[in-house]
Amino acid sequence: MMHEVFEKLRTLQEILSKKYDIEKEIEEIPRSLTTKTELLNRLKKQYIEKNTSFDESRARIKSLRIRLEEAEKLREDYEKQMDVIKTQREYEALDKEIKYATEKEQQLRKEILREEKEQEELQHSLKREESLIALQEEELTAEKERIENESEEKRSYLESLKKEEDLIVPDLDEEIIFKFERIIRSKAGIGIVPVNNSVCTGCHMLLPAQFENEVRKGEEILFCPYCSRILFYSDTEMEDEIYLNEDEDGSLADLGDFEFEE
Ligand SMILES: [Zn+2]
Repeated sequence: MMHEVFEKLRTLQEILSKKYDIEKEIEEIPRSLTTKTELLNRLKKQYIEKNTSFDESRARIKSLRIRLEEAEKLREDYEKQMDVIKTQREYEALDKEIKYATEKEQQLRKEILREEKEQEELQHSLKREESLIALQEEELTAEKERIENESEEKRSYLESLKKEEDLIVPDLDEEIIFKFERIIRSKAGIGIVPVNNSVCTGCHMLLPAQFENEVRKGEEILFCPYCSRILFYSDTEMEDEIYLNEDEDGSLADLGDFEFEE
């Protein structure tokens, strides 16, 4: 009778530990997506800012060109006036104006060149960022698709685990199940362990003799007083060896004793 319960608990343990792993995986899936989305948003924001700078630069060039045209026209007007001047004083004044207008022209041309260079650099980096954004968007789409497929698979696996769980759970005590689930969650998926040589194979603590006897009787479900795992007494050596972290003192004599007592 009790043997069956332990068997069921072990089966349930297998289902539950898989279930918790899968649940955790499903929970963690959107994280990689968040990182990629954040990166994409940052790239887009940067691109918009740079694009604004580009527009501003273009507007500056436009206004510089207008001012350059004006300066050129002014200089040309002065040069025409040169043909009709009559006095040395007029010549000197005009010459000064022409020099001033020429300087202004040169200064504007320099500014335009500098601005054009900046604009060109901006354009290059905008193009670079455009392709980076496109690439990132592509990656994100692929990632979303992959994740959707993956989640779909995981969810259906989870569903099948839940169905298996539902087949076992009704046969077991509700309170035991409740405790058992908590232990499995907190103890890395292991909630039921055999006692071997008076030691809980879950936490390797030596159990009180009286308590071990209770476990051996197998009349009720007992929890390890140290690690809270459910304990069962295993009378097959093979099973023990699977769970046991061989301790050197676990002598054959002890095992022999157990066999005799059975
Ligand atoms: Zn224990």
